[in-house]
Amino acid sequence: MAELEIYQFPCLSDNYGVLIRDKDSGHVASIDAPSADDVRAALAEKAWNLTHILTTHHHWDHTDGNLALKAETGCTIVGPRPEADKVPGIDVKVGEGDSYKFGGFEAKVFETPGHTAGHIIYWIPDASVAFVGDVLFAMGCGRVIEGSMDAMWNSIEKVAKLPPETMLYCGHEYTIANAKFALTVEPGNAALQARAKEVEELRAQGKPTLPTKLADELATNPFIRADSAEIRQVIGMENASNSEVFAEVRERKNRG
Ligand code: ZN
Ligand code: FE
Repeated sequence: MAELEIYQFPCLSDNYGVLIRDKDSGHVASIDAPSADDVRAALAEKAWNLTHILTTHHHWDHTDGNLALKAETGCTIVGPRPEADKVPGIDVKVGEGDSYKFGGFEAKVFETPGHTAGHIIYWIPDASVAFVGDVLFAMGCGRVIEGSMDAMWNSIEKVAKLPPETMLYCGHEYTIANAKFALTVEPGNAALQARAKEVEELRAQGKPTLPTKLADELATNPFIRADSAEIRQVIGMENASNSEVFAEVRERKNRG
């Protein structure tokens, strides 16, 4: 079976960069390119040659390195068709239902609007990983900037339906703040209490809290748990739809 090597590294102030390498073909992709310098340093550290950039969305902290890295390596830039005009250097446009062949792997693409209007995620089932950009974070989710709350909820549901053992690579290390907020809307969730302690310890040691297993998000992330009786009770929305509960939780996080 094909093997995918994955290297995650912190960059900018709170972003993560991720490099993936298909061992058989030697193809190397950067998931987003937050900073040319940081991606270049990570490539040098691994002695890997960049062949692809897989873009999740157009925000500068995910695309700032695109043009410089493309000029240096001739890499192919793959990105979201719905906002292709905002992705510097884009070569291949992908959208809902597309499969992008990366070496011996297939990256399945889902459109996940809400944070940006054209945000996409990449799921590589044969490696049990998904690159979710700024849709979902550990115990958190991205700000809803270019889409409706409803659209964002639908996008989060797409992530929630992946196999629970899927490891999610996210754009940012916001975990400590997310855990604090999560406890305000679901204080009785024992899994959440335990995880909040765990991530405090990881961060105190300077370690990343990501990637995160989808199963852990399903158990602790208030933005994916709109059907939680406790959350509904705490925010006083026992009979609302999941999408409405999500919207209220997101609004509270914005205010908090
Ligand atoms: Zn973003
Ligand atoms: Fe971001």
